[in-house]
Formats: sequence, structure tokens, C-alpha cells
Amino acid sequence: MSESCDVAIIGAGVIGAAVAFELPKRGYKTINFDMLPEAGYGSTSNSCAIIRVHYSTLDGTALAYAGYFHWKNWREYLDCGDEAGFAKFHETGCLIMKTKGNGNLKNVLIHVVALGIPYEHWNEERILEALPNYDLRCFSPPKLLNDEGFGEPTGGEIIGGVFFPTAGYISDPKLSAHNLQRAAETKGAQFIFKKRVVEIPMERSRVQGLVLDDGTCFNAPVVVNVAGPHSYKVNALAGADRDMQITTRAVRQEVVHLPSPPDFNFGENGIVVSDNDIGIYCRPEIGNNVLAGSEDPECDPRETVDPDNFDHNFTDQWTTQALRIAQRMPSMGIPSRMAGVVDLYDVTDDWIPIYDKSCVDGFYMACGSSGNQYKNAPIVGKLMASLIDYCENGNDHDTNPLQFPLEYVDHVFDAATVSRLRKVNPDSSFSVLG
Ligand SMILES: Cc1cc2nc3c(=O)[nH]c(=O)nc-3n(C[C@H](O)[C@H](O)[C@H](O)COP(=O)(O)OP(=O)(O)OC[C@H]3O[C@@H](n4cnc5c(N)ncnc54)[C@H](O)[C@@H]3O)c2cc1C
Repeated sequence: MSESCDVAIIGAGVIGAAVAFELPKRGYKTINFDMLPEAGYGSTSNSCAIIRVHYSTLDGTALAYAGYFHWKNWREYLDCGDEAGFAKFHETGCLIMKTKGNGNLKNVLIHVVALGIPYEHWNEERILEALPNYDLRCFSPPKLLNDEGFGEPTGGEIIGGVFFPTAGYISDPKLSAHNLQRAAETKGAQFIFKKRVVEIPMERSRVQGLVLDDGTCFNAPVVVNVAGPHSYKVNALAGADRDMQITTRAVRQEVVHLPSPPDFNFGENGIVVSDNDIGIYCRPEIGNNVLAGSEDPECDPRETVDPDNFDHNFTDQWTTQALRIAQRMPSMGIPSRMAGVVDLYDVTDDWIPIYDKSCVDGFYMACGSSGNQYKNAPIVGKLMASLIDYCENGNDHDTNPLQFPLEYVDHVFDAATVSRLRKVNPDSSFSVLG
């Protein structure tokens, strides 16, 4: 005999677990299925988990600002206990360097002002007060290790930046997914681990549930794809990729962890910095380390891979990123032993996510998070629950898209901006910045 639920959720990362937290509140009996052993074991566990509010579009900015308040009020939002403890939000703020490459942040500030998000203009002096070891000479455009002129200043200095106090990072993203699992369980959600979904049966163009790799069948009239970098495979299983104008793919990423330089305890006193001039973002990392990721400048590889078979070893890209951050912190030593993470983004054509229904009745997707949607997980849980309710109650989201009022922010989110049927958004940064 098959088991059944109202909604089968494929994936128990931070977003899958957030969806599981919201649906039971609306009366849906849910089960999350994940092939890994615990919640948040997939790309969530290696997320840099930076919480920031600057995005290239108004709706993207509004979503991120609404997300920020959920991290700020994490315990109240979860409203439950967790024997493993709670993920911690380090609200360090985030500085974005003003550069020619990011148009001195003119567009970003238009959205920020429209939404009433607090910010400060910082001049060179103020930047050095916060980051006393910083070398503010310009190095742009970012280059690869073996490119001519790598690491050589190109003239001029960074003249300022914009600082957002409502930003920081979560020190343990995997734990945050566990917190969400526990919160969802208090509402009646179930989780099944170490089982891969291998089939999504269909009848008269409607999903019927799913089949696991041990042959077990689960009946469900609604299935949600929150499979992270595997999302394109799961969409294909359901035949839901037929009408998608925006597609997803798994893109390999390396993130560097380096010991703080001797003249500045970045681990304790550092902030999140987005630095378009060197093509790097950084933040403090536990153990008095500096974490440095690529902002995907044009020269950096964008390697599409099979999420079930990719190289987990560091490459020259690790060294490139380490040496780029050392351009700003010249006293920083580069250890011979490489530390950090290698993992996958689930990237869309415009680096803006897809939160949508599909051409298959009852099949939904929260995917294409493009390396920048960890921060939005709590609000995406609410958005997806609202979308499923909206569609299952007979509304045609494709022609009359859900309008989703955000909490904490005076803005109604237009879900058409994250539709699978949208055109590539030309306003996007086409990078991890979204
Ligand atoms: C290196 C890196 C740095 C990042 N930094 C940031 C950041 O600073 N800020 C930010 O906001 N975002 C960041 N992100 C993005 C963010 O981490 C992701 O958007 C988020 O974690 C995605 O969560 P998820 O639940 O959708 O996916 P995942 O955590 O990947 O979970 C998907 C789950 O689905 C399961 N699954 C897949 N297929 C199947 C199947 N067929 N059957 C059963 N289970 C299946 C997997 O096992 C996995 O556990 C980063 C991502 C990476 C990789």
C-alpha cells in the first residue's frame, strides 16, 4: 500500500525546510524527501550565508529586506526549541565599494531609498576606520592568476562605499535548516532522509506523487521541487521543463578560507565587504578567518557540471581568489594548505530565482537560487505556501500572477518577476549578486 500526503517536497535544504514550515500552517500535510542524511546537508551546508539587502531589482531588494527581519527575529519566527541549538545571525553590516563597474551603486540606491532601507555613505577615511589594514588602490578589472598584470594596481583608489547596517552572516547555515526542520515538525511536517526521488508519476497531466529509489511510492496531489543544484533533473523527471523560458543548471564554485592577517582580527572585527574592483566578496569566518568568494567577474570560469559527478578539489581559482583578497589585505599570509569549500550554485539564465508553478498540474518549483537566495529562505517558504494555495484554489498564476504582500516591508512582491515564463531580466547583475 502506498503512503500519502497533501504535498511532497523534494529537498530538505534551507528553502525546502522553510516551505515545510509554512504549508502545514495552511492545513497541508507535508513530507520532505531528501537523498542526504540530514536537513541542510546539500548546498545549504556550504553556503556563505551572507544576509544583505542590496540587489539589482526592486522586487529582489524587497524580498531580501523582508528576509533580513526573519533572521533578526529568528527565535520568534521559529517559535520552537531545537536540541541542536540555534543558528546565530552576526549582524556586522555590509560595505559595498563604489566602483565604475557597479555604477557607483546608483541603481542599487534607487531601490534602497524606495524601500526605506537604512544606509550610510562612507568615504575613504571611514572605510579605513572599519578596515584599518585595507589597501584601497584600484586593481580593476579583476584578472586570473596567470593573466598579465595580475595583482598590479591599475591607478587611482577606491573613493568610497555604501554601508548597510541591516546585514551580516549566519555562522552555521546547516544548523539553520535543522532549526527549520524542527519548527516544521512542530506543525506536523514529516521528513524522510537517505532516499532519492527517482520518478514522478503523472495521470492526465497532473502529478500523482513520487517514487523513491527503494521502490516506495507516495501519493500526493502536489509535488514541490526544492532540489537545489539538482533542480533541472527533478524538473525533467516531471516533464515540467517543457515550457520553461528560464532554465537552471549546476555551476561549480570555490570559496576560500584564510587566516586573518596579523595586523587585524578580521574574524572578530571584520564586516561583510562586496568589492567589485577585485571581484571578491568577503566576510569573517569562525576561527579568526577571512572567507572570500568570487563575485563572478567576466574572467572567472562559470563551469556547468553534473551535480552527481563533479570535481570537489580546489583548483587555481582558489589561489586567484586568495591573492585577490590579499590585494586588499597585503599583510595576509597565504598558507600552502588550501581551506574552504567547493560546491554548486543552481543558476538561472539571469541569476534571479524561479518560484513558480509549472506546466504540469500540481507540480511547483522553488529553484534557480543562483548562489544568492539563502537569505530569502524564510520568506520564500511563505511565498511558496501562498502560491500553492493560490493555484490549488483555481487561480491561473500564469495569466494573473500572485501579488504577495511582504511582512516588515511596505511592498507587494510581484511573483511574475520570478516566473519560469519571464524574459531574461536585463536589470540583473548576471552574477551571484542577483
Ligand atoms: C558556495 C555557496 C555560497 C553561497 N553563499 C550565499 C550567500 O552568501 N548568501 C545567500 O543568500 N545565498 C548563498 N548561497 C546560495 C544558498 O546557499 C542557496 O540558495 C540555498 O542554500 C539553497 O537551498 P535549497 O534548499 O534550495 O537547496 P539545497 O540546500 O541544495 O537542498 C536541496 C536538497 O535537495 C536534495 N535533492 C536533490 N535531488 C533530490 C532527489 N532526486 N531526491 C531526493 N533529494 C534530492 C539534495 O540532497 C539537497 O539536500 C550560496 C551557495 C553556495 C553553494
